[in-house]
Amino acid sequence: MTEPSVRVIGHQWARDAHAIKDFLGRNQVPFRWLDLDRGRRAGALLEEMGLTGAALPVVLLADHTALEDPPIEVLAEHLGMHMHADRTYYDVAIVGAGPAGLAAAVYGATEGLSTVLIEKEAPGGQAGTSSRIENYLGFPTGVSGAELASRALTQATRFGAEVLTPVAATKLTIENGYKTLELSDGNSLTCRGLIIATGVAYRHLPAEGLDRLTGAGVYYGAATTEALAAEGQHVYVVGSANSAGQGAKYFSKFADRVTVIIRGPDLAAHMSQYLIDQLDETPNIEVLPHTHVTKAIGEDHLQEIELENLETGEQTTVPASFLFIFIGAEPSHEWLGETVACDEHGYILTGPDLIEDDQLPADWPLKRHPLHLETSSPGIFATGDVRHGSIRRVAGAVGEGSTAIQLVHRYLAEVH
Ligand SMILES: Cc1cc2nc3c(=O)[nH]c(=O)nc-3n(C[C@H](O)[C@H](O)[C@H](O)COP(=O)(O)OP(=O)(O)OC[C@H]3O[C@@H](n4cnc5c(N)ncnc54)[C@H](O)[C@@H]3O)c2cc1C
Repeated sequence: MTEPSVRVIGHQWARDAHAIKDFLGRNQVPFRWLDLDRGRRAGALLEEMGLTGAALPVVLLADHTALEDPPIEVLAEHLGMHMHADRTYYDVAIVGAGPAGLAAAVYGATEGLSTVLIEKEAPGGQAGTSSRIENYLGFPTGVSGAELASRALTQATRFGAEVLTPVAATKLTIENGYKTLELSDGNSLTCRGLIIATGVAYRHLPAEGLDRLTGAGVYYGAATTEALAAEGQHVYVVGSANSAGQGAKYFSKFADRVTVIIRGPDLAAHMSQYLIDQLDETPNIEVLPHTHVTKAIGEDHLQEIELENLETGEQTTVPASFLFIFIGAEPSHEWLGETVACDEHGYILTGPDLIEDDQLPADWPLKRHPLHLETSSPGIFATGDVRHGSIRRVAGAVGEGSTAIQLVHRYLAEVH
């Protein structure tokens, strides 16, 4: 096996080190992690490079550039990621490169639209963090989210979609039907058709100490880059839906023992039966019912968690170095301001869901009804998990992303 050309040197429990490892891992940049707390190799390398006393973590690149505690954008620039748009106008801009956004980019580019896809973290979205997607058509033995994302990204770019990452859409303004997006790189671009595919992000668990220790033993989602460090350890997983089940299964390959903490009596209410069966068949996974986490304890990293039995009120404190939290997710799209109508939970309303008591929204400006997937603002479409009524599955997101391009075509035909 060839040595990865990127090396990251730091302390296992440092939040900045976790953020960099997570970014590289999710963007499929091969790297070697050198832990200063394990063995002498990492320290010796820093000394050899004249970097003793450097701000940690240090990222060493193939050309021997050493970046000291780099912000993600700086690291991305050094890695040659495409962060600045080539043009100022596109027929369609897509915000979010999860399955919905990637599908829209493939269809937009193949159907002759100038297409830009903007992603703030890593292509693949939530699906990209899944260790094994088993119910997506065409993959009878499952496919890892990372592989699915990488294949889709290759497909989108091969057909000519421009993909900007890591870049966030930070503001939207509309003038005469032209939509202008401000971006986190300080630039802006304008489009006629806009597809919002920003999905959902993990909901935070409101327990004492958790925020302070996030990235230092407490992780939201699968954080697969930390799995090797969990080797031989007792890992705790919080959550009772499919993502928690997949996480538990994944960590059981590395950890000595995995405990899944759930509030209810069993997994039946929220988890698919095939996953429940898999957890049952894995000897080092156990489920702790009627329980929630009330506190995370540790100085610079997680050392113990406090648990409460919801039936008896009994509290126990157990040693724990790894807590992975999968407790559902919610949409976040403050950058849209008030431009599109949402339901009470922030999911974007589209098509028939905008019509109440046979009435179109008061500010809907056209004679026609909003198209299926069109928001309360003409020419802006919402797809995938961010949309009210979405089925919250990869196949649903892919279907909606592809369909939205047809609707963009119809909209563009109207305005030209
Ligand atoms: C661990 C896990 C396992 C799962 N397993 C399965 C499974 O086995 N089968 C299945 O069918 N479904 C599964 N799901 C659900 C599935 O992944 C989601 O339904 C799907 O990813 C939704 O796709 P999406 O494109 O709508 O949104 P997302 O996947 O959430 O992607 C949204 C993207 O938008 C980006 N974004 C957000 N805001 C901005 C902004 N302002 N600017 C730029 N980019 C932005 C985000 O960074 C993200 O990459 C799983 C989910 C998780 C978390």
